[in-house]
Amino acid sequence: MNKILPFTAEQVRNWTDQYPTPFYVYDEEGIRNTVSAVNKAFAWNPGFREYFAVKATPTPAILRILESMDCGADCSSVPEILLAKGSGISGKRIMFTSNETSASEYQTAREAGAIINLDDLTQVENLEKACGIPDTVCCRYNPGEFRFADNAIMGHMYDTKFGMKKEQLFEALRILSAKGASRLGIHAMLTSCSLEQEYYPALARELFGLVLEIRETLGITLSFVDMAGGIGIPYKPDQIPVDIIAAGDGVRCVYEEMLRSNGIGLPIYTEMGRFVTGPHGYLLTSVVGKKHIWKEYVGVDASPADLMRPAMYGAYHHITVSGKENSSFEETVDVVGALCENNDKFAVDRSLPHTELGDILVIHDAGAHGHAMGYNYNGRLRCAEYLMCPDGSLKMIRRAQSVQDYFSTLDIDPEFKF
Ligand SMILES: *Cc1c(COP(=O)(O)O)cnc(C)c1O
Repeated sequence: MNKILPFTAEQVRNWTDQYPTPFYVYDEEGIRNTVSAVNKAFAWNPGFREYFAVKATPTPAILRILESMDCGADCSSVPEILLAKGSGISGKRIMFTSNETSASEYQTAREAGAIINLDDLTQVENLEKACGIPDTVCCRYNPGEFRFADNAIMGHMYDTKFGMKKEQLFEALRILSAKGASRLGIHAMLTSCSLEQEYYPALARELFGLVLEIRETLGITLSFVDMAGGIGIPYKPDQIPVDIIAAGDGVRCVYEEMLRSNGIGLPIYTEMGRFVTGPHGYLLTSVVGKKHIWKEYVGVDASPADLMRPAMYGAYHHITVSGKENSSFEETVDVVGALCENNDKFAVDRSLPHTELGDILVIHDAGAHGHAMGYNYNGRLRCAEYLMCPDGSLKMIRRAQSVQDYFSTLDIDPEFKF
């Protein structure tokens, strides 16, 4: 089974003739179509906003596309706040969802006018000490156990470090309100990479239930509900994508039933990262070695320094051998990079068309948590990123790291010439 690419083998050859591999290509049109679908799915909700999780694809050119489509940014560090601001996203369009947060981080978030999302009850005091209590504050919830409408358990959160238990959440909201915060919201991210169609509606049921309970017990009417991210993408060709329009409609039904009927109307926020950019980023890498020992190996010029997910999580990423999409001569191989680490494998026992040196492999679904997780282990330099514009042209949006960049933080003989 294959996955369709938004570009041709001829385009790939053209690009790799001009630019050294490995590099990333992002499909602008694909990203725009997905964001349009998300906005459409929640168009029924006045004030809805997708706060794109910056950590997924922290590249300004991508963030500017999202900005132009009315997205906000979900940030968790000072550099991420700066990336958002530098891309035209500011004020309440920034959600600052951090944990183990320092005073200076709270100060920066407050100065940026961001919505601060507190991860723990103890953070209320830390926030107040750091920069005072802002008018708008969000609190992150961890229910321990997450249930479907039919009360079946969907997942456990007991070993998840994020968020507060219900009593703590209520206490945090009570204190924040008493200290003058007039616009309060709640946030929960109870899964990761879920292809479960019912995830958002089930999460909405959980959170809207809290909205009602908070009004009843604390007398506080919340101002927004943040359903965060966690919607997965079909990494494998036989997996079925989440129908976001249906998921949005599922949330609408729960909203009507639980909130509207009780006279409550509030904006819903999401913080999708993977769902928005994941399918629209590709890592292009050249075959540089073929090795036949106890197994068959295809060596490539990319490594986990460019895309860590397979090495770190054993994650599946589909691979297309460019120009050989319809080849029937298959071989079963491990696709490996140059790191001195045996987990440096983009694929294990993968059936691929017969490859030769110089073939270009396209690694799919690398648009989120891909380049972003890059690192410099083994002195590997981070690769460039390109944007494929809707007219099919390629534009560099991040140059490759140079040796000078790599040395820029080091104490080295000033006379040393690279
Ligand atoms: C990582 C993260 C997201 C995005 O997660 P995806 O799996 O990319 O959708 C959203 N919100 C928070 C707080 C996160 O940490």
